[in-house]
Parts: sequence; C-alpha cells; structure tokens
Amino acid sequence: MDVELLHYTPLTVVAHAIRTCWQSFDKGDRGGPRDRELIDRVGNKYKHSSTLEHLVYTFYIRGISRALLQELARHRIASLSVKSTRYTLKELKKEPPFQDGDLKRAEEFIVLTGDERVDRASVEALERLRQLLVAGISNDFAKYALPECYKSELTWTINGRSLQNFLSLRSSPSALWEMRNLAYAVFDALPEDHKYLFHPYLTPKEEK
Ligand SMILES: Cc1cc2nc3c(=O)[nH]c(=O)nc-3n(C[C@H](O)[C@H](O)[C@H](O)COP(=O)(O)OP(=O)(O)OC[C@H]3O[C@@H](n4cnc5c(N)ncnc54)[C@H](O)[C@@H]3O)c2cc1C
Repeated sequence: MDVELLHYTPLTVVAHAIRTCWQSFDKGDRGGPRDRELIDRVGNKYKHSSTLEHLVYTFYIRGISRALLQELARHRIASLSVKSTRYTLKELKKEPPFQDGDLKRAEEFIVLTGDERVDRASVEALERLRQLLVAGISNDFAKYALPECYKSELTWTINGRSLQNFLSLRSSPSALWEMRNLAYAVFDALPEDHKYLFHPYLTPKEEK
C-alpha cells in the first residue's frame, strides 16, 4: 500500500482556535513550543478534544484491499472518495489470462497475504472475473464477482480528533493485519511536528 499526505492544517490554526476561547493570542508563538504545548495540554490532557477537530488531514491511499476498505468506511467521522469499480474494471479486461500462481502480475490488481493457498485462490478469483469481463458481462454485474482482495484506492480526509480514535483502534494487535499496516503508514505520513499529538494513541508495532 501507499499513503501520501496531500494536505493538512498547520498547527497555528488549532492554536488560534484554542486561544480564541480565552483570547490569549498575544501568548502565541506561531506554532512554536508554546503553541505545541498548549495544543497537547488542552486537546489531549484537558480532553477539550473538539479543538483538535480544527486539524484536518487529507491522504491519498492506494493499493488497499476491498476487505480493508469496508472496515475503513466504518469510521464515520471521515470523508472518503473511492475509485469506482464500475468504471475501472476495463483495466482488468485488457489483461491476458492469469496462469496458475501468476502472483507477480496479479499483484497489480489484488492484495496478496503471503499465505500461498489464499493467494492462489485469489488469483483464480481474479481470472474468473477477467473471463466474465471478456465475455461481455457489464461492469455493473461483473463487480458482484469481485474478490475481497481486489485493490482499491481513495482520497481520505479526517480530522485530528477522529484520527486519534482511528490510530488507537486500528494500530491495536486486535485489528486486521492490513488495517494495522495502514494505521502505521498513515501515522508515518503525518508531518513530523504533528506526530507528538498522535504518538500516544499508537500501539507499538512490536506488540503482537
Ligand atoms: C478490533 C475491531 C473489531 C471490529 N469488529 C467488528 C465487527 O465484527 N463487526 C462490526 O460491525 N464492526 C466491527 N468493528 C468496527 C467498530 O465497531 C467501529 O464501527 C469502527 O471501529 C469505527 O469506530 P468508531 O465508531 O469509534 O469511529 P467513527 O465512526 O469514526 O466515530 C468516531 C467517534 O464518534 C462517536 N460517534 C460516531 N457515531 C456515533 C453515534 N452514532 N452515536 C454516538 N457516538 C458516535 C464515537 O465516540 C466514536 O468513537 C471492529 C473494530 C475493531 C477495532
């Protein structure tokens, strides 16, 4: 998978929002140590968490499975714009047949798990889907034969408060492995000076 941060709100905006409450603008230092400490104290420690909603991040997430996508969509406090299979199955239709165990080429379309039996079954499902398309079945019907491993991509926008909740739930060892990978990739893509607000919500990778 690939996670790219397209856009984010600078820390000065959330500092401004917090300082609005008691009109302490003169104490601001343009996103410097005083503002950073204030955001952490008010947003995290005092649990005045709504202030963190002024922080908004937009990511371009590519190469995740539809299995992961449907779990990601459960996070209601976020906005998703997802690649449409109705229009994009034509990419698969142009492919030559997938032979048994043709994992390398299939990986362009599906997420592999590393379990050979599962991955071979996924390639077979991909080939059956390709055959439907070649036989002239319309995308609107063929999409019902999509395997869960089929790759998707989306633009995902989430605010800081909801992102803390996401990272806390989805970096946990009880989360799906691919979701856990996504949580770490999203954290890694954050601006360095924002990470301190989210790091406490992340379960370390080595915890299984
Ligand atoms: C390990 C794991 C296993 C899971 N297994 C399943 C499963 O088997 N089946 C299944 O259906 N789901 C499952 N889920 C999904 C889970 O139930 C949540 O839907 C998902 O994690 C999104 O969490 P959320 O509601 O906190 O996030 P969001 O929807 O982004 O909501 C963020 C926060 O806003 C508040 N909020 C949002 N909507 C409401 C509301 N209507 N009322 C009150 N407060 C609200 C809550 O405080 C919530 O935490 C699983 C999640 C995890 C992490």
